[in-house]
Amino acid sequence: MAVSARVGAVVLDVGETLVAEGRMWGAWAHVCGVDTFTFAAALGAAIAAGSHRQVFDVLGVDPEPRRAAFLSLFGGYRPDDLYPDALEGVRLLRGAGYRVGIAGNQRAWSTPALRAAGLEADAYGTSEDWGVAKPDPAFFRRCCAEIGSLPAETAYVGDDPVRDVAAARAAGLRAVWVRRGPWALLGDRDAAQAAEAVVTSLAELPCAVAGLGLVAE
Ligand SMILES: [Mg+2]
Repeated sequence: MAVSARVGAVVLDVGETLVAEGRMWGAWAHVCGVDTFTFAAALGAAIAAGSHRQVFDVLGVDPEPRRAAFLSLFGGYRPDDLYPDALEGVRLLRGAGYRVGIAGNQRAWSTPALRAAGLEADAYGTSEDWGVAKPDPAFFRRCCAEIGSLPAETAYVGDDPVRDVAAARAAGLRAVWVRRGPWALLGDRDAAQAAEAVVTSLAELPCAVAGLGLVAE
């Protein structure tokens, strides 16, 4: 009896994969009282040192008392924060027959904002909703559970070599690196070697995922 291959799934990271974070970090610069050039330099130093969260240490600023002002100024993701290829990339993947998930290290408010921006997926999740964040393998197991796929049949697509690429591979998923944004320039180059496919546009994803042997419906 022929056994039909299971349909592959593709889960996409949010920040710098689907969404350009420039406006968000600009809001942080403003509430920290730092010009955007200085803030960007500090953020780059933090990313190169291993974690963007260290940007506030580099600047010597406590973000917590400023968080409400940041959220008020930023207002959450808007449609014009999406990378120009975001809607097309998701549409092409779903049109090719892949199930698509959107899940990243994000606040819970990001999901309704992304849906309102037009990103239609089969499953959504955030680290805040799930109580677990990348690079924890439990985050990737939750991605697979939400979309109903096995790790080996699931490609995780992200820009961060450590938290997306190497972490997805360590959890048994397939890994596609989106080479753009600050993490592509400053992230860990050894971790990026774990990528099984590299794209510079989300429109390349159907071909890249098919190249990994993931079967579309
Ligand atoms: Mg990202």
